[in-house]
Amino acid sequence: MTSDRAPRALTAAARAPHRPGIGWARALGVGAVGLGLAVATALPAAQATPEGSSTTTPAAVVPVDAEPALQAGQAPHVEDLSDPSSLAAIANPARPLDPLDYAPEELEPVNASGDQLVPVAAEATRQLLDAAAEAGHPLRVESGYRSYERQSELFASYAASYGAEYASRISAEPGTSEHQLGLAVDVALANGYCTLQACFGDTPAGQWVAEHAEDFGFILRYPEGATETTGYAYEPWHLRYVGAEIVADFAASQATTYEDYAANLEAAADLVAEPLPEVLPGQAPLRLDVTDRPAGLLRLPDELRMGRPAS
Ligand SMILES: [Zn+2]
Repeated sequence: MTSDRAPRALTAAARAPHRPGIGWARALGVGAVGLGLAVATALPAAQATPEGSSTTTPAAVVPVDAEPALQAGQAPHVEDLSDPSSLAAIANPARPLDPLDYAPEELEPVNASGDQLVPVAAEATRQLLDAAAEAGHPLRVESGYRSYERQSELFASYAASYGAEYASRISAEPGTSEHQLGLAVDVALANGYCTLQACFGDTPAGQWVAEHAEDFGFILRYPEGATETTGYAYEPWHLRYVGAEIVADFAASQATTYEDYAANLEAAADLVAEPLPEVLPGQAPLRLDVTDRPAGLLRLPDELRMGRPAS
C-alpha cells in the first residue's frame, strides 16, 4: 500500500543504514509538517548546510523539549530485522523466526498476571499501565510471552478441535508469532469489556492506548485496514515494544505498518531481498491473534466461526 514510497526513501538511507531517523522526514518530504519544526529548531543555523546536516551528530538533532513523537529516532540495521533478539525483529507468517524455536534469554513477569516479557518491554508495559490508570483507564495484561512449545500446543489443540485449516486461521503457527519474541503484549480493560475484540479500540481506554502507546516505545502492530499487509485483522489490543528510538523513526517514516517500515529499510539499504516465501502475508489465510486462554476463542466474531465451538 505504501510501497510506492520506498524508492523515495532510498535517498536518505541507502548508504547510511544507521542514520538518524530524522532522515525519513527529508526523504519523504514532510518538512512542512510537525517534523519540520523539530528539524528547524534542532539545527543551529551555523551548523546547517544547504544539503542538510551531514556534519551534525545525531545527538544534536534531538530537540530536547519536543514531544516524544517529534524526536529524531534511530533506524535499526536491516540485519536486526531478522534477529529475534533485537528490538527491531519482525515476525509474521511470511517471516518466521530464525531459529524457529527461538526463546529470549531473559524474561520477567510484567505484574501479578504472571505474563512474562523481555525485561525492557515488561518495564515499559508497567509504565504504560500506570499512566493509563492515572488517566482513568485501568488496563490489565491479557497475554505476553508465548514459547514455541506453548504455541505448538495451542496450534495442535486448535487443530484437533477445529481442523488444521481453521486452526491456521485463528492461531499463528509456532515460530511466526511476535509473542514468541517476548516483545508483544495484549492489553485489555481491567473489567474485561471488549477483550480481544475490535471494539476495544472504540473504548476511551483503547483510544488512550492508540494515542499514547508510542510514548512508551510501543507500536500498534496491527492497525485497522492493514490486513493485506500484516496478514492479521485489526488488533487494537496488541502492542509491540520496539523502544523509543525505533518508535520515533517509525513515526517519522510515515509507514502504516511495521511490514512497510521494514520493507522501506531494506529497500533503502539496497539489500537484495531473500527469496520470498510462496505465501505473502496478504495472501495468507486471515489469522486472529487469540490469547492462550480458552475464553479468547469464544469471543471470536460469529462470521469467523466455521463450526460450533465444543464448549
Ligand atoms: Zn497479541
